[in-house]
Amino acid sequence: MKRRDVLVGAAVGASAVACSKPQEAAVATAAAVDPIKWKMVTTWPQNFPGLGTGATALAERIGRMSGGRLTVKVYGAGELVPALEVFDAVSTGTAQMGHGGAYYWKGKAEASQFFSAVPFGFNAQEMNAWLYHGGGLELWRELYEPFDLVPFPGGNTGVQMGGWFNREINSVADLQGLKMRIPGLGGEVLSRLGGASVNIPGGELFTAMQQGTIDATEWVGPYNDLAFGLHRVAKYCYYPGWHEPGTTLECMVNKTAFEALPADLREIVDAACRATNEDMLAEFTAQNQIALTTLIEQHDVDFRPFPDDVLRALKATSTVVVEEIAERDPFSRRVYASFSVFRDRVMAWHNVSERAYYAARALDSA
Ligand code: CA
Repeated sequence: MKRRDVLVGAAVGASAVACSKPQEAAVATAAAVDPIKWKMVTTWPQNFPGLGTGATALAERIGRMSGGRLTVKVYGAGELVPALEVFDAVSTGTAQMGHGGAYYWKGKAEASQFFSAVPFGFNAQEMNAWLYHGGGLELWRELYEPFDLVPFPGGNTGVQMGGWFNREINSVADLQGLKMRIPGLGGEVLSRLGGASVNIPGGELFTAMQQGTIDATEWVGPYNDLAFGLHRVAKYCYYPGWHEPGTTLECMVNKTAFEALPADLREIVDAACRATNEDMLAEFTAQNQIALTTLIEQHDVDFRPFPDDVLRALKATSTVVVEEIAERDPFSRRVYASFSVFRDRVMAWHNVSERAYYAARALDSA
């Protein structure tokens, strides 16, 4: 409907230019280039470091790249719709764009989790490779198509941290009864190993840790965790974030609205999402290293690696949890097949490239 309106409008504008007096032609031309105004709803608070600012940067980028022909107004969580209603709001066209994380929508489509983070799955570089050049994005688009949505990779946090703990984790037994804020697949894995996973909004984590309502919490990494002051209410920070090794954020666009855009504006939306996807990872990488130094040098935080046998147990259980999803959900089965083939090959490649290089760089000089 919208595309037809645009085409009809353009034709009327063109005939007006051809047939009428100069003054009328100017009015018709101005009408034809009236900016398209979109709304973007997000799962983040407005301007929350990295995530909210990334969504705002994406909206501003689209405005600049299009010379103001397509403008996007950003609404933080709760401003137009609550955080977890972003999917429905964009699907129904209440807003034309949304920014969030695909794993929030597992209740809509279980396979969505593969497009944000899988425990012991892809890091940021591998996610981008799989999505853009390994068939991942085609599957993601097919999954969202029935909801009238077009997804785009729209940011990445890089490897997250394991979380903040008030209990030492020296063995798998220490996970027993551990009450931890860890949503999604990671939370399911912890529960299978005897822990109790809970989901609490980010803004409530500090108080929950301070009051002892929970024993541990994950959030994102040094940049965001320092902003919340989590180092003030926890004894230890464990690494790595086995449950979120390179979380992709998503930009979703209402498909009807997207297809009504002229071809160049569709390309601009795509290019702006790609730029944001890259820039957010760069920002997280740059800010995390600064915040890590601050946490160590100014706040004396006790950073600890998870013991190997704990990671082995988490990994084995993660495999079981992910395979169960693939068994019960047909679309997840297809995604998991693509994911698995890509993972095996990229691990073989990265063993002789990224991993070998990290090891080489860490050697003492002769
Ligand atoms: Ca997290």
